Amino acid sequence: MNSATPRGPVDATAVPRFGGPATFARLPRLDEVGRADVAVVGVPFDSGVSYRPGARFGPGHVRASSKLLRNYNPVLDVEPFGVQQVADAGDIACNPFSIDEAVEQVDRGARAVLEHSTRLLTIGGDHTIALPLLRVMREVHGPVAVVHFDAHLDTWDTYFGAPVTHGTPFRRASEEGLIDQTGSIHVGIRGPLYGPSDLADDQALGFQVVGSHDMDDLGWRGVVERIRARVGDRPTYVSLDIDVLDPAFAPGTGTPEAGGLTSRELLNILRSFNTLNLVGADIVEVAPAYDHAEVTGIAASHAAYELISAMAPAAEAGPRPHVSASTTGLGG
Ligand code: MN
Ligand code: MN
Repeated sequence: MNSATPRGPVDATAVPRFGGPATFARLPRLDEVGRADVAVVGVPFDSGVSYRPGARFGPGHVRASSKLLRNYNPVLDVEPFGVQQVADAGDIACNPFSIDEAVEQVDRGARAVLEHSTRLLTIGGDHTIALPLLRVMREVHGPVAVVHFDAHLDTWDTYFGAPVTHGTPFRRASEEGLIDQTGSIHVGIRGPLYGPSDLADDQALGFQVVGSHDMDDLGWRGVVERIRARVGDRPTYVSLDIDVLDPAFAPGTGTPEAGGLTSRELLNILRSFNTLNLVGADIVEVAPAYDHAEVTGIAASHAAYELISAMAPAAEAGPRPHVSASTTGLGG
């Protein structure tokens, strides 16, 4: 953590919430504070989608929908912007005409931000970007446990012959040894599959599944128990496809499926991650052209807030197993 007092959002009693900077939660930019504990970075890329496009506008939309976030999280009794420096690192520019080049650009861009920040919270963009982000995580932390929220497995092999799309990041990641195959889990899976082999392949790639249909029987606390039992104290990366939420709570996404989580269930689960060893996270697949009244953007911004809160050092239990800059291997 920074030795200096963290600089928080613009004072809402001085600058009304509908004004001020266009950064996430009206936080300072990373270049204004020099170093952060958590950097929020956008990746406006959606050339890997298989159905509705539009997630390239996700980072701007989530930022615009984050203006009402306030300093104090009463459920966790933590001030996520007060006990750690959180800053907006802007967007990673990537080529909309070349998936391969874009994946390289996300890889380089994430490394560059990690020279100035302990953790990344990435706002997509489509789910393709999880692959380069996991490559960077692997280099820093070794294979990470992945808690993957999604309606979809995203462990398919190819689509129209393309190996790197938003439906394949976790198969590629497993093949490359980026994920801990004994500690990874999907949450919220639902909807029709191509066939039973999808699930068999997925299990062989190292994932457990908690389906959306399990929510009613287990309740969110039961889901949290499953996740904790699976990931333990491993370095854990959260990849959150906003389509894990029911279309009622997140209409603004590219591949909607009926029967998803409520935003309340999702936020409760994310809050519980303050006991996990979170090393990074992404929130992807927000496509604002299909959103209404910022419903999806607000859900995504609150999910980001709970993840940032869960990353915060605990007040009473002493420092959590924070990742120190010296262990990142990425300098600075
Ligand atoms: Mn999905
Ligand atoms: Mn996905």
